[in-house]
Amino acid sequence: MKAIKVPEPFKIVIEEVEEPQVKSAFDVKIKVTSGGICGSDIGIWNGTNSLATYPRVIGHEFGGIVTQVGSGVKRVSVGDRVAVDPVVSCGQCYACKIGRHNVCSALEVMGVHRDGGFCEYVCVPEENVHRFKADFDEKMLSVAEPFTIGVQINTRAQIQKGEKVLIMGAGPIGIAAMQVAKMNGAEVIMSDLVESRLEKAKMMGADRVVLIPTQNLEKELVDFTDGEGIPVIIDTVCIPASFQQSVELACPAGRVVVIGLKSQPSEIVMAEITKKELTIVGSRLNCNCFDKVIEGLESGSLKPDKYVTHMFSYEQVEQAFETIRTHPQDVLKAVITF
Ligand code: MN
Repeated sequence: MKAIKVPEPFKIVIEEVEEPQVKSAFDVKIKVTSGGICGSDIGIWNGTNSLATYPRVIGHEFGGIVTQVGSGVKRVSVGDRVAVDPVVSCGQCYACKIGRHNVCSALEVMGVHRDGGFCEYVCVPEENVHRFKADFDEKMLSVAEPFTIGVQINTRAQIQKGEKVLIMGAGPIGIAAMQVAKMNGAEVIMSDLVESRLEKAKMMGADRVVLIPTQNLEKELVDFTDGEGIPVIIDTVCIPASFQQSVELACPAGRVVVIGLKSQPSEIVMAEITKKELTIVGSRLNCNCFDKVIEGLESGSLKPDKYVTHMFSYEQVEQAFETIRTHPQDVLKAVITF
């Protein structure tokens, strides 16, 4: 079968590899139909993803149609349309034991630490497979994964109905987090440096947008919250300054969610956290979020159609990466079809 491989940074090849076989009773074999390209795939390609090792079959956002199941598989059967949770954990460590396997101390992500889903067939454990009930578009199955990131962020932020939320950054993660927050009944204001991204955010459900630096974010937040200050901030910009600003902008008893994987330190004023008794939490990958996302996608509260801006067949993978590299602001989510 064909697989999309990054043998070393700045190289991407379509290679003939051995087709995986169902080996355990709990294996599910899937014919991949849809693969989403993520910023982290770009990072593996250009050598900036510190977690990746080479050579690697990339792709952690993927889904397809079940073609074979092991004898012990109960939840899915041949012909089902499914999305795959790329998170693999040990089940033994502290985080796993308390139900937070997405931060397992021996965590592996398909397509990053081990081979992923940009290939014709995958074999994965049943527990990683999530079934779509409706007759969902097979080209869009990979969109579930980025939306699980949004659900995880909302869960970590404990976003409630009627709450006001600032999302910094209107990229794919910001937009996914926004749609989930809207599904949860929150009111969302989004900020970005790029006007076209904000227009898209508005079209996809954001209540209000702030163009930086043309508009003053602090002033807009005062207005948005009737002078109260913003209680929930999700920082998807992920630079030291945005983290710092989040802590400054959050109102008393507020929550800040951080998702960056950068290692540069940020200068955070301790008194801001103490005086306002802020809750600052990280959010990584997803912890059992697929079923909620699938429900949202099927009911129409999550809208993947505008989310996917580009579609390429797998033979055009180089072109897809090139498009993202040269037009990063125009691509919200590019999907590869197999
Ligand atoms: Mn992703």
